[in-house]
Amino acid sequence: MASLFSKYESMASALDSVIAVGGRNPFAVTIEKILSSTVGIIEGRQTLLFGTNNYLGLSQSPCAIQAAQNAVSTYGIGTTGSRIANGTFSLHQQLEHHIANFFGRRGAIVFSTGYQANLGMISALAGKNDYLFLDADSHASIYDGSRLSTAQVIRFRHNDPDDLYKRLRRLDAPEHAKLIVVEGIYSMTGNIAPVREFVAVKKETGAALLVDEAHSFGVLGKHGRGVAEADGVEQDVDFIVGTFSKSLGTVGGYCVSDHPELDLLRLNSRPYMFTASLPPEIIAATIATLHEMQAHPELRTRLMDNAAQLRTGFIDLGLNTSKQVSPIIAVTLETTEQAIPMWNQLLNLGVYVNLSLPPATPDSRPLLRCSVMATHTAEQIDQAIGIFRQAAIKVGVIS
Ligand code: PMP
Repeated sequence: MASLFSKYESMASALDSVIAVGGRNPFAVTIEKILSSTVGIIEGRQTLLFGTNNYLGLSQSPCAIQAAQNAVSTYGIGTTGSRIANGTFSLHQQLEHHIANFFGRRGAIVFSTGYQANLGMISALAGKNDYLFLDADSHASIYDGSRLSTAQVIRFRHNDPDDLYKRLRRLDAPEHAKLIVVEGIYSMTGNIAPVREFVAVKKETGAALLVDEAHSFGVLGKHGRGVAEADGVEQDVDFIVGTFSKSLGTVGGYCVSDHPELDLLRLNSRPYMFTASLPPEIIAATIATLHEMQAHPELRTRLMDNAAQLRTGFIDLGLNTSKQVSPIIAVTLETTEQAIPMWNQLLNLGVYVNLSLPPATPDSRPLLRCSVMATHTAEQIDQAIGIFRQAAIKVGVIS
């Protein structure tokens, strides 16, 4: 009889060959202890963390830790219910109020993860008679949300508003609603979306626009509201989705909008309705880090200075790196035969980054994805660049 696992045989042998290179599984790295936002213990050694999404370093915020402890004492450790049943505490409504205020929007809905925010919004907004226009390099949560929606999906070339425009014009379906979905900063490459140009396409064609600011929230824009703020087009974006798991250092997702019907989605969004709500300590910590982010705009300046320092260092070494300065600075290599040993060397020498292998990478080449934090010191960044140099020489990427 066929085994349920027979479809995993080729994946298992591919994983075995990846593990054989350095004796470790790159997809199961364990951080044994956190010493600070930028240093952890991995395999018993102090390691510089350049592979988290903790962009502002706020996962270790003392005032957020205190707020979480206070919330646990007051409310307990969990809600044990979904938002539409027994899982809405006044804390959830406070957080929604803070998020809506921060974005200057009429309403906000908070979800239990950023993944669920995309799943919940896209699936509830786009029905089977509607059309979804997705950037080809969209995150899995966007693709999964579109599957759950049962809408017609049309992909356009990554970060290409002209291609989107052509596809929208070619579709002669005035009676059908259309939703365009793009991300603010793309998580693998650090590419920043030309949101102002996407807004122009949206206006010209009458489609609605959703921007997932997961990696740009807290990072871009004068107040940290993301790419739409940086491009001066916030009011033309219908739905902004994001996550608390990156610059705010906790977990959870949100959508903000001015559409008066937003609240109706609470009764039609399965990923909102059929899962437990965020626990009190996470909400309290998220409110605390949101305030901290607002009170410390200098964190954003430091983050971008640090990202520029790392990127310049990589360019000086002759590595093929990100085109734009963002907290995600990726090094693209030509072959997995280079990427896997180089990733292992980096960890042996004390730097943790993310290894991304094709077919999961945008242009079928492997990536060493680094994420920068506001709390990295200039010395830590120099140290990481030095270790990249050693590792790249060792595997023959540079001489
Ligand atoms: N959107 C994008 C663009 C992401 O990169 C991610 C996570 N990496 C998510 C959504 C999901 O967020 P979370 O991990 O907080 O669920």
